[in-house]
This record gives sequence, C-alpha cells and structure tokens, in this order.
Amino acid sequence: MAQESISQMMTGLRAFFGAGKTKDIDFRIAQLKKLKEGIRKYEPEIMASLYDDLRKPPFESYASEIGILYTEIDHVIRHLRSWAHPRRVATPILHFLSQSRIYHEPYGVVLIISPWNYPFLLAMTPLIGAMAAGNCVLIKPSEFSPSTSQTIANMIGELFESVYVTAFQGDADATRKLLDEKFDYIFFTGSTPVGRSIMTEAARHLTPVTLELGGKSPCIVHEDAGLKYGIKRIAWGKFFNAGQTCIAPDYVLIHRKIKDDFVERMIGTIFSFYGEDPMKSPDYARIVNERHLNRLVNLMKNGRILYGGKYLSKDLYLSPTIIDQVSPDEPLMQEEIFGPLLPIIEYSDIEEAIAFVNQRPRPLALYCFSENREIQDRVLRETSSGGGCINDTISHIGSQELPFGGIGESGMGAYHGKASFDTFSHPRGILFRSNLVDMPLRYPPYRDRVSLLQFIFKFIR
Ligand code: NAD
Repeated sequence: MAQESISQMMTGLRAFFGAGKTKDIDFRIAQLKKLKEGIRKYEPEIMASLYDDLRKPPFESYASEIGILYTEIDHVIRHLRSWAHPRRVATPILHFLSQSRIYHEPYGVVLIISPWNYPFLLAMTPLIGAMAAGNCVLIKPSEFSPSTSQTIANMIGELFESVYVTAFQGDADATRKLLDEKFDYIFFTGSTPVGRSIMTEAARHLTPVTLELGGKSPCIVHEDAGLKYGIKRIAWGKFFNAGQTCIAPDYVLIHRKIKDDFVERMIGTIFSFYGEDPMKSPDYARIVNERHLNRLVNLMKNGRILYGGKYLSKDLYLSPTIIDQVSPDEPLMQEEIFGPLLPIIEYSDIEEAIAFVNQRPRPLALYCFSENREIQDRVLRETSSGGGCINDTISHIGSQELPFGGIGESGMGAYHGKASFDTFSHPRGILFRSNLVDMPLRYPPYRDRVSLLQFIFKFIR
C-alpha cells in the first residue's frame, strides 16, 4: 500500500476515534459479539488457512487459535462494564471534601503487529483487548503466514468498518513505513531483535508499547519429578505446533539421577504421540518455511542426537529430536530454538540449575517439575520469568485470570482478560474539588509558612 493511502487510512481511523463512538460500552460489547460470531462463521477458513501455512493439525488449531478466543471474548464481555466503570478511590485528607476517581480512557488508534506461529490467535487476542478498551485498531499480520493473514483481512473487512478496525498486509519494509505514522499505542508480538527496533521507532513519536517477545524458556526437571504425567506434559508443550511456540520449553535441565529414565520415557512418549514415523502423523505440524528449517538443521550440528534428527526439506518436516552433550556456547543454546529440538542438560544440584537459568536473559516462561513444595518455592523465589507453570508446560497461556507477558529481553507489559483491558486503557486520575471551602495556605505570598507546612505533613500520612 502506498504511503499516501497509509495516511488516508490513519486519517479515517483518527476521525472515527475522534467521533467518540468507541467510548460507548454498549457499542464495544456489540462489536465484540460481532467478532465472536464472525470467528464462528469463518472457522472452516481459519482452520484451512492454518493448515496451509503450518500444516497445523485441526485439533491444535481449534484448541490454541479458536476455542481459546471464545472464552476470552466471553470473559471480557462479562466483566467489561465493571472494568470500564470509573473507580472511586480514597482522597488524601489534605484535599478534604474532594473526591478522586480513575477513568479508563482508550488510547486512540492502536497498531497490532503479530507473528506467524499462532497467526490467528496472536492477532485476535490483542484485538479483543484493544476493542474492549474502546480503541480503533490497525492489525498488521505476518507475511510468513500468508493464508491466515488473508483470512484475517477478509474477516475483518466483512465485520467492521475500515475506519474502526482494519487489517494491513505487508512485510517488514511495509511495517517500517507504517511506523512513520504516529499511533497512540503499539502492541507487538514477535522476536526480540525486531521488538527492539519497534521500540526505537515508537520512541520517535513517544508512543507507548507492549512487547511480547521470545527467548529460551527453561524446563527444570528435578529428581523427584512426577514423570508419569510430567513427561507427556513436557513432550506436548515442546512438540505442539512442531515446537514453534513462544513459550515452548526451549531446553530441559535434568537431574543427573533421572536423565536416562527421562530420555527413555521421552522417546516412548514421542512414539505414543506420533507413531514410528512422525512425518506420517496427521497430528504433527510443519516448519513454517525453508529458511527456518535450514536454521534448525544447522542448530542440530551442535551436541549429540539421542533421538530423531530427521528432516525433509521439500515437506518442511523436521522430526521431534532429543539432543544431549550440548555446550552452552553453541548456537543451540545461545538462540531461541523455536522448533522441535530438545536439548537436555544435566545438573547435580538444584543450585546449579537455578544458576544456569540466572546466567541467561530472563525468559518468557519457566517450568519446574518437582513434587517437593520447597523446591518449587525455591525455584520461583530465586529465578525470574514472564510466567510459567509448576508441573506443566504452556497451560498458563489459557487462563484469563493470569497476565501473560515477558520481562527483560522476553518483553514488557502483559495481556489476557483484565490485563488486556488495562494495557489498552490509560488510567486517567481525576480529582473533583468541592467549592464549599478553600485552603488559603497554598496561595502566595507564602511568607514564613514552611514550618506550618512541616507541621501539617507530620500528621497527614
Ligand atoms: P518477527 O519479529 O520476525 O516478526 C513479527 C512481526 O514483525 C511480523 O508481522 C513482521 O512482518 C514484522 N516485522 C519483521 N521485521 C520487522 C522490522 N524490521 N520492522 C518492523 N516490523 C517487522 O517474529 P516472527 O518470526 O513472526 O515470530 C517468531 C518470534 O515471535 C519468536 O521469537 C517468538 O518467541 C516470538 N513470539 C512471541 C510471543 C509472545 O506472546 N511473547 C508469541 C509468539 C511468538
């Protein structure tokens, strides 16, 4: 799209926002209902597009990109009136006879930039929050999931006036042009390096940002871990969408005593999930494109492959793979894997595992498998991460009550449920002053009132 038409698009969005329609809660609720119905109507196209882009198994598509949106929309509709209601808060005694309220104001025109790995979910979830908070929205889906991006554009085009919510398709260059415009909020999901450049661009206009980034999410498996369920939960979290999940366990830190048992069970679990040849399984997705497949194949050159390691470029297939004897200095342990390669690293003492995690950037998720409450508490107390699970993987993303987001290099800000509403709203604090009395003390000339002021501040705390 030419620069001029980007400006026209922005003018339309600004004018619609300025007209104030989105401030009406009934309007927002009606639009969210419309979105839900639209997704329902488009279900077959969405599933087909996800299959086209990633050969996503329909079960995974429905569970992780569609069903979860219905619960998010229902949750938001149920609570929106109470979240949006101005909140009365206490007023300091100094301002007696006044009232204080926090208003939740929409930012205005919001830009949502989304990635290819959950291309529908990660465009729609922030959209729900942005609409709930009363914003106008421009969505920029990923060019690497073209089929789903087209479906998003078709659906959004059918459901909403383009001056309210619109989809803009384009690559990195086109996105950079978009960023020349002044948005009122930018919500970005993608890689850490691109996140950094989005923040730099946003800084030119002093536009606030949420950055949902990636990184290496560790999975600590302690000697007392309940592997009966644990092993399946780790394999599921790792190989779902062929490992292309921002919060997939990136690597396993395994207690030395149970390593052999872990590997044997993991191989058995992969077999039970996908059969002898995962390439023939309808339940195993593909790598998004050849560039990423080649990147992953190169990563496999590090360490020793214990299981898997098979690939077929023309099918974009890479098998579930377990790797040990990896060196922390090799690319496999330096960059986010984002594919079905599972390095396992031994430790002897929980301190060692914690130190390993803490020597690296703070991850988006952290998982700990242990039956021992003290070990669980210690790992949580002595490490930091965006979120995570104890005795499970990736499931925390499915709760509307848990804010989802990163910390440090894995991102900033959070969303889902109320956290989304808060992210896309500006909390506007307003003091209502009574005209019954006035305090002359505050006005000049101040003369020698400092000691009186000191006396007053001693008592008002
Ligand atoms: P990416 O950063 O390459 O691209 C994300 C979006 O940014 C795309 O829409 C793309 O067109 C745009 N873009 C790319 N380069 C750009 C540039 N220079 N300037 C402006 N825009 C640009 O990420 P990706 O490859 O699509 O997704 C994979 C990454 O996303 C992984 O790192 C993964 O961990 C992360 N991710 C994070 C979350 C989360 O919720 N935190 C969820 C999914 C994926």
